[in-house]
Amino acid sequence: MKVHEYQAKQLLAEFGVPVPRGGVARTAAEAREIAAGLAGKVVIKAQVHAGGRGKAGGIKTVSSPDEAQQAAKRMIGSRLVTHQTSPEGVPVSAVLVEEAIDIERELYLGVVIDNTAGMVVIMASEAGGMDIEEIARTSPDKILKAHIDPALGVHPFRARRLAFDLNLAPAQIRPATEIISNLYKLFEAKDCSLAEVNPLAITCDGRILAVDAKLNFDDNASYRQRAVAELRDTEQEDPLEVDAKSRGIENYVKLDGNIGCIVNGAGLAMAVLDLLKQVGGGAANFLDIGTLNEPDRVVQAFRILTSDPDVKAVLVNIFGGMARVDIIAQGIVAAANQMMIGVPVVVRLAGTNVDQGERILNESGLQLIRAYSMQEAAQKAVEAAKKSS
Ligand code: GDP
Ligand code: MN
Repeated sequence: MKVHEYQAKQLLAEFGVPVPRGGVARTAAEAREIAAGLAGKVVIKAQVHAGGRGKAGGIKTVSSPDEAQQAAKRMIGSRLVTHQTSPEGVPVSAVLVEEAIDIERELYLGVVIDNTAGMVVIMASEAGGMDIEEIARTSPDKILKAHIDPALGVHPFRARRLAFDLNLAPAQIRPATEIISNLYKLFEAKDCSLAEVNPLAITCDGRILAVDAKLNFDDNASYRQRAVAELRDTEQEDPLEVDAKSRGIENYVKLDGNIGCIVNGAGLAMAVLDLLKQVGGGAANFLDIGTLNEPDRVVQAFRILTSDPDVKAVLVNIFGGMARVDIIAQGIVAAANQMMIGVPVVVRLAGTNVDQGERILNESGLQLIRAYSMQEAAQKAVEAAKKSS
């Protein structure tokens, strides 16, 4: 789950990472009021779940409350397109109004999970402000890394080492060390999957401030992070994904192909995506119904896929381990009874209770395209999608 910059900054401040003074505005009048309270130059920042705003016109520096109001008026209610969004962009419903900072240097500071190492890694760089992926690609030596054993946490000397390696002034070592430790503490306490400050600014008067902030949270921890879950802004998310979550399907991701896939297990989902590509097709989604033995899961999955106009064929590929194939088959029949499925459906079933599952489908009289291997299923789905589109 992602949150807005202003929400991320509130959390940073709580954990002792300094941020610029400011407030969030949902109307141009509110933006004016906040700007008047701050006095001097202010920055108006579009609040969207995407980076690259600077280059896309989502960040404006202004010199008066009037100008702040005008800038906010232009942004609020518009859609912002950045290199990180879809071509339609994302809606801007709020702006962050902050004191403008005189920046001398822009650093990068990030905390992520290194899956290969099985540890958390703190990354820092003197080449902040820009696209860190670009830096990682072109000059990886400019990124400092400190792997942190989650059982031990961040030892002060590790944070201090990073601060030294960022070539800071002596007076900045202590605050920088604290910022690094505190960002790590926030990451751990709130079950983040990413905590990133870019830029971490060194101001002309020598302070260190988080000028931009991005926090992503591990959805698997949402049950114990109620306060974080309340920060969710579904307006920034894909409507079909939001719908899927509300229907109890956690693992649904919209993709750009035309075959709607219903599978169980993330591994099988990936394999299906690969296979479809291999035979010249493409999945319209990644949808994992999990291993809950509940026919309604299948019905809900069909509901989501049939409401997506990109879906020209549905591929059901189930391997019953813990999941029971007969229950899935019941779900397919129930879906066909409850809704109009206007596209061809390819079904391949294997595993636990497959014979009962086959029987249920055969006796249902449904017009299904049957396949008995993954390869065959993928090929038939691609052909069916071609014919129906
Ligand atoms: P992003 O483009 O979505 O990552 O948004 P950022 O908040 O990182 O802003 C992009 C760039 O705008 C930063 O790297 C800064 O160079 C600049 N910027 C943002 N806020 C300020 C500010 O208060 N003062 C100054 N001088 N520059 C700012
Ligand atoms: Mn940024």
